[in-house]
Amino acid sequence: MGGGESLRGLTRRHFLVATLLVLTGCAGVPGVATGPASSGQPKNIIILFADGVASTHFEMARYSARHLRNQPFTITDTVFKEGTLGLLTSHAHEAIATDSAAAGSAMSTGVKTTIGTIAMTPDGRPMRTVMEAAKAKGKRIGLVTTATVYDATPAAFSVHAKTRRDSQALVDQYLALEPDVVLGGGSDYFLPAGAPGGKRKDGKDVIAAFRAKGYQVARNVRELRAATGPRLLGLFAEEDMNHEIDREAGSEPSMAEMAEAAIRVLSKESPNGFVLLLETENTDTAGHRNDIAALIRDLWVFDEAVKLALEFQRQAPPETLIIVTGDHETGGLSPTYAFKDLSSTSSRNRFYAGPAHLEMINRITISIEKAAETLGKKPSAEALDRLVAQHFPGFRLDPDLRDAILKQQVLERNFSYPTQGALARMVSRQTGFYWGTSGHTAQPVVVGALGPGAERFKGYMDNTDFGKILHRLIEGR
Ligand SMILES: [Zn+2]
Repeated sequence: MGGGESLRGLTRRHFLVATLLVLTGCAGVPGVATGPASSGQPKNIIILFADGVASTHFEMARYSARHLRNQPFTITDTVFKEGTLGLLTSHAHEAIATDSAAAGSAMSTGVKTTIGTIAMTPDGRPMRTVMEAAKAKGKRIGLVTTATVYDATPAAFSVHAKTRRDSQALVDQYLALEPDVVLGGGSDYFLPAGAPGGKRKDGKDVIAAFRAKGYQVARNVRELRAATGPRLLGLFAEEDMNHEIDREAGSEPSMAEMAEAAIRVLSKESPNGFVLLLETENTDTAGHRNDIAALIRDLWVFDEAVKLALEFQRQAPPETLIIVTGDHETGGLSPTYAFKDLSSTSSRNRFYAGPAHLEMINRITISIEKAAETLGKKPSAEALDRLVAQHFPGFRLDPDLRDAILKQQVLERNFSYPTQGALARMVSRQTGFYWGTSGHTAQPVVVGALGPGAERFKGYMDNTDFGKILHRLIEGR
């Protein structure tokens, strides 16, 4: 939290938190040697954040872009090739497999914390976030996500909470922090219960409160494109926004359309520059549902956002640092070779996942999440068979998987979702794109950086180092 400007309008509770931050010395991120001194200081920092994505996901997206679209994949082919490349550990304070709150907090504050905690130490002390540091330096700040805007990652990069589930309080803190751009889903906790789609228990209309502070408000693609002011709140869904594979163009903006609007608004009148977090949460959700078809589309459109960021960087070199990363791996994605069936262990009964299998995946027309929603909690055999025939052409649902869906049984202890898990396994068996879990794993995540300060993100680092480096770059150290 910065000077008088950002403190104005804070509620008493927020002021207390802000005072605490100063008293506990949260202005200072614990100093350790993390990489060589920078040869450049960025004016702007754009963090492109693919939740639940590690190196296998990026490689799968690169390979599929080449074989299905005959196109390069900007993240691997430009950012990783021309920039610097590093690996980040992702473990939480108390567990090797983290969640997005603990991982995002480490990457934002430079301090490890417990699962579910937003930018506070395990014993409950708030730590200065990347966006608070940027605001204190007079930079403009932006938060963009396909999830609810108060979801773990954007929250951990900007505000504080003992639990990520404290949605209403997180929205209150956004109103106090006043990020210049907030785009994503989650209108539910901006509107009072009783208003359509509203869930707030205090009767407040926080969209109106943002408007009163001079924000333009966008609720659809047309309003997003038309936004010309310096401050923008865009809420495009009551909860999470749709996967790209399910998105209705024209009603919900894509990740790339939100990135374009955020960069356009933030780069206007920004003498001290800006820090922008562009997150796709859909990649994490696709990982949880083991949904390879949705994941490919979500990573391709995320790659378009990266391309837009690079175009902006090229317009005014060398002012902007572009960072592409994730917070943890989701799903234990493992494209592999496998038996066609269990009739024989002969190598003649084996296939290798490749372009022909990607073609099959490319013909799927629905996310597994939406398929499960369509079927409901008690799917009928008729509805199930119809859905598979309509949306998964060329796939057959083996009897054991069909049975698991009809009886709503999970396949293993580390697979949480009966319908989603069985539909995903159907796709895996016929394509070789298998998954190891419906949860998060400990695979280190990749960080690619291009622009002034990029060399600091080289090598094998803890995810807290990522946060420490960001604070140093923002503070000009
Ligand atoms: Zn997750």
